[in-house]
Amino acid sequence: MWTADEIAQLCYAHYSVKLPKQGKPEPNREWTLLAAVVKIQSPANQVCDATDKEVPVTKEVVSMGTGTKCIGQSKMRKSGDILNDSHAEIIARRSFQRYLLHQLHLAAVLKEDSVFVPGTQRGLWKLRPDLSFVFFSSHTPCGDASIIPMLEFEEQPCCPVIRNWAINSPVEKSNNLEDSKNKRDCEDPGSSVAKKMRLGTPAMTLSNSIAHHETQESGSIKPDVSSSNLTKEELDTANGIAPGSFKVVDVYRTGAKCVPGETGDLRKPGAAYHQVGLLRVKPGRGDRTCSMSCSDKMARWNVLGCQGALLMHFLEEPIYLSAVVIGKCPYSQEAMRRALTGRCQEVLALPRGFGVPELKIEQSSLLFEQSRCAVQMQRADIPGRLVPCGAAISWSAVPEHPLDVTANGFPQGITKKEIGSPRARSRISKVELFRSFQKLLSSITEDKQPDSVRVQKLDTYQEYKEAASAYQEAWSALRKKPSFASWIRNPPDYHQFK
Ligand SMILES: [Zn+2]
Repeated sequence: MWTADEIAQLCYAHYSVKLPKQGKPEPNREWTLLAAVVKIQSPANQVCDATDKEVPVTKEVVSMGTGTKCIGQSKMRKSGDILNDSHAEIIARRSFQRYLLHQLHLAAVLKEDSVFVPGTQRGLWKLRPDLSFVFFSSHTPCGDASIIPMLEFEEQPCCPVIRNWAINSPVEKSNNLEDSKNKRDCEDPGSSVAKKMRLGTPAMTLSNSIAHHETQESGSIKPDVSSSNLTKEELDTANGIAPGSFKVVDVYRTGAKCVPGETGDLRKPGAAYHQVGLLRVKPGRGDRTCSMSCSDKMARWNVLGCQGALLMHFLEEPIYLSAVVIGKCPYSQEAMRRALTGRCQEVLALPRGFGVPELKIEQSSLLFEQSRCAVQMQRADIPGRLVPCGAAISWSAVPEHPLDVTANGFPQGITKKEIGSPRARSRISKVELFRSFQKLLSSITEDKQPDSVRVQKLDTYQEYKEAASAYQEAWSALRKKPSFASWIRNPPDYHQFK
């Protein structure tokens, strides 16, 4: 039907052609992360071809996101006009919601061709049966999926050795943004701390001050540790290497910290550093964040769908992803499965329409040209810092203003004075997606509106979210599982805007 390389190739081409220069990394100095949602249309699913020939599958990027940052708690706003979490996956998902809102507008208001067809109940829609959505990410999601066993003989799963990294090499320094005290790089196969660990440096100050992912860059230094809290299966299947051949000597690390209430990491040297399967929050710059790791959010999408609560008012069933494809980077099939699907098995008492459909997880062999690894290889010995790009690009397959470039959660170029004005809102911010939702609702005559919004008077964002009862029921059911119980939720006063 499709291959992981085809999906990656399509997304990389879309990035090159459809995304503007604005918001992309500065050549040879910056890198970024990329994520996207790809619509797959396979006519074979719907109609059997009488000639028994294979019917071609069409693939189309419907949303895309880039970004590496996440704002701290102190920068959050009650007006819903800032993007808290600008990791590429989250930008791509919010851009996807924008696309879905447009598709609902096509179906429900304009009566035009759309990805949706009428459901069985009044005002409700469902996905056309010949369509599915594949999620692409240029990198392993931060958090649990990034805790990957590192094997004894493993050298360069991503970048070839281009020099023998010294502790104070230029790139090494580039990891140390701003204050170099009390900090630790994250996401984090090749961070200075991980390397120091492997070099046997005992110091380990655990305060993340940069919110970004990093990819493998280290040389072939082997740590002298062998303990691990990973299961035998995880070790055996890690990185596709035959069971029993290698010893797990360390793990790639994630900068995402455990949420309060979780047992926490052991933080022992080497492979015993992390506990696996735990909920984690993204690191911020000094200020802690309230954003769950991408691994955790993606696991949640597996049960609740990736449309969110608001859109569920219009849908008979949630919109699930059929597959996740990861680009070339440090990767473990077992860690991905553990983080994304393993934690959401056997959720009891899910409402009708919800379930935990099978999620295909694959890796492509193609490297994203603006990933940290690729930029590092291209720049070779150019001196200076290599830093994560501060901007986030959102693109949705919608006719008006498909692009939205932000920095620090606001449209790029906005002055401090403008914050709070309509001009200073990203099109994928909570308040703007809510505005699009309300616009859609008001364009539908009352007798065609779904019951959930007709039978009660709703006003605030919070009220509309709460009124999506099946979604909320599914979310409660998921939180009953110990693996999701400590999920950090934003206080309700962050959702009182209209
Ligand atoms: Zn992330």
